[in-house]
Amino acid sequence: MIQLSKRLQTVANYITEGNKVADIGSDHALLPVYLVQSAKCPSAIAGELNEGPWQAARKQIANAGLTAKIDARRGNGLAILEQNEVDTVTICGMGGVLMSDILEAGLLAGQLEGVKELVLQPNVGEDTVRSWLVRHEWALIDEKIIEEDGKIYEVLYAIKSVDAQQHNKQLFSSTHMTLPLSDTMNKAMMFKMGPHLLPKRDKVLLKKWKSELQKLDYIINSLQLSTLDSAKAKLEATEKEKNHISEVLEWLFTDKQ
Ligand code: SAM
Repeated sequence: MIQLSKRLQTVANYITEGNKVADIGSDHALLPVYLVQSAKCPSAIAGELNEGPWQAARKQIANAGLTAKIDARRGNGLAILEQNEVDTVTICGMGGVLMSDILEAGLLAGQLEGVKELVLQPNVGEDTVRSWLVRHEWALIDEKIIEEDGKIYEVLYAIKSVDAQQHNKQLFSSTHMTLPLSDTMNKAMMFKMGPHLLPKRDKVLLKKWKSELQKLDYIINSLQLSTLDSAKAKLEATEKEKNHISEVLEWLFTDKQ
């Protein structure tokens, strides 16, 4: 049986047993093959935009003897799906902006019709994905942050629910998590850093944001050297961003709270 990476195993663990799954951007079809081999899911669809990864997915599925249960479809995002065809959609290993664009296009075309859960693993731009979920009333139920081979990944689990709006409103409010910032900034930082991740105070979260602070320091140093007028406003915004992140980390990872 296929052995998944810790990252993809974290995604797999969120999927409801018995669900029919579509994995979008399914290079090598590792996740669909694992889900069917392990009998967690009866069948799956591996969607791929590009020829090479699509061929790799087809080969993997054939080698596992699962062509009757896993369909490798070539196409853009959710366009490979019919309405009400799957219960779960997973999208992993791409940027949050592209992921949100795929979800938006799928929503407009009705391809999210019948989908009950989303498991999303953006490599960057997690805040864009959280905003998309909240805007379209998907309840953000849980999040995990993991480290594997020196890289840090976040996994977001959301469900379609009639209570989504209320759930998310509470989740992104200071009732759920009070940070040492204004209400508006509390909310912005929850979108950035994860409303479920912040209260867990995982050391991987600290590591991720310490590394982001280093990147911001580098940007600040370059902006300070710039003579362009536009650099001044950018510098101010970057310094603010750095201060907010630092304040949140200090609040979370010292005994102040
Ligand atoms: N999901 C796998 C994982 O997490 O290990 C593969 C991630 S790989 C970095 C991203 C994959 O998404 C590539 O195979 C790429 O061809 C595919 N991709 C990018 N844009 C896509 C789109 N709009 N629709 C479907 N697949 C796409």
